[in-house]
Amino acid sequence: MEPRKGRRLALFPLPLQGHINPMLQLASILHSKGFSITIIHTNFNSPNPSNYPHFTFHFINENLSECEATTTDIFALLKLLTIRCVEPFRECLSKVLSDMSEEPIACLISDAVFPFTQAVADSLKVPRMVLRTGGASSFLVMAAFPFLRQRGYFPIQDSKLEEPVAELVPLKVKDLPVINTSEPESFHQVVDGMVNGTKASSGVIWNTFEDLEQPAIAALRHQFSIPIFPIGPFHKCYSSSSSSLFTEDRSSISWLDKRAPKSVIYVSFGSIAAINETEFLEIAWGLANSKQHFLLVVRPGLVLGTEWLEPLPNGFIENLDGRGHIVKWAPQTEVLVHSACGAFWTHNGWNSTLESICEGVPMICMPCFTDQKVNARYVSDVWRVGLQLEKGLKRGEIERTIRSLMVEKEGEEIRHRVLQLKDKANMCLRQDGTSCQSLESLVTHILSLE
Ligand code: UDP
Repeated sequence: MEPRKGRRLALFPLPLQGHINPMLQLASILHSKGFSITIIHTNFNSPNPSNYPHFTFHFINENLSECEATTTDIFALLKLLTIRCVEPFRECLSKVLSDMSEEPIACLISDAVFPFTQAVADSLKVPRMVLRTGGASSFLVMAAFPFLRQRGYFPIQDSKLEEPVAELVPLKVKDLPVINTSEPESFHQVVDGMVNGTKASSGVIWNTFEDLEQPAIAALRHQFSIPIFPIGPFHKCYSSSSSSLFTEDRSSISWLDKRAPKSVIYVSFGSIAAINETEFLEIAWGLANSKQHFLLVVRPGLVLGTEWLEPLPNGFIENLDGRGHIVKWAPQTEVLVHSACGAFWTHNGWNSTLESICEGVPMICMPCFTDQKVNARYVSDVWRVGLQLEKGLKRGEIERTIRSLMVEKEGEEIRHRVLQLKDKANMCLRQDGTSCQSLESLVTHILSLE
């Protein structure tokens, strides 16, 4: 812990698990660097402040009704939050800025997906920095949307899904970071807003590291005239479990304790992704038929139109002879670090992707929407630390892919590569490492922002 700097930072996360975790990890990192921390948070999805006794929390009322406060249509939720948060956020930030009993605020750090905070910060004359919780490579693709529109890539045509995007090697058309929505134009406006809001900020903080995304980081430095600070992986400095919005099932760990090293495939699709019942059954049968041990997270809401496991046929779990364990939410970073964990079947949210790389765990990729598609392509084709389920969710394909990764030579080579990346992640956090040095530059930059 460094001496106090007499400066406070106001942090405002997007209230979704994959955004809250890195924002609170960043808060802990900057607190350790001597800054005092104020977290501004919506009432919706609020983390437990008592887990952070050294931070000051302010809650704003975004007034979501019970049926609005759901992640089933994530794009609709995002648009609603953006509209409902503006005024309560402005009032709250204004109060925080004028509170003379606290240290002066050096800057606001808000999520890239909340670009309206730039105008609020400008009007209150406080600098805003951005936290981008996704990777740099996927952000670069989003920054290229206007160009891709000109080149006719949008709207995406089903007949072209397997074609390469020549301007963005090695992406295919199906990897472009979009979401299924009835309002594609509105989605493009949101992406453009995020990119332009980031460009207008006083700098961007990235939960990534140079050795992982050097070409994208260099391209962003070239394209953006603002400073860029890749200081990740955050979770290797501070754990995220205290910001979990779901109850972690500890039986995940006691079950893993009884399994042989590298024998278990961990399966989780994060906090938002959803699948249908047919897909769920293919996943379940693919896992069962692979004859490998598996720890499967079925978050309530993951399988559309179901309560939890009722689509599974009677006797499915009993017939596994103890090879499978199913929970509603797992302590993921602890699972990935466990010696029994041999692979991670993931939706490639950026946190999950990074957490897997940092523990040297090879992946099976099943991206669902937006940046997950780009992350998955980088995992399978650039870093070559995972296999992507390219041909849809079919039990035979799933079984083959699991076996390739867990028991075949291909899997051994992939494991070797991901262990090399893990070493690089560890190196960048050492005192002379790139992330550590970038963090020092970030601290100097924040102190210069008056
Ligand atoms: N996570 C967890 N337990 C689970 C599934 C996910 O703790 O069973 C955590 C995971 O470690 C990660 C976050 O939830 O930090 C999910 O973020 P990610 O960006 O991977 O995906 P999202 O939920 O945003 O789609």
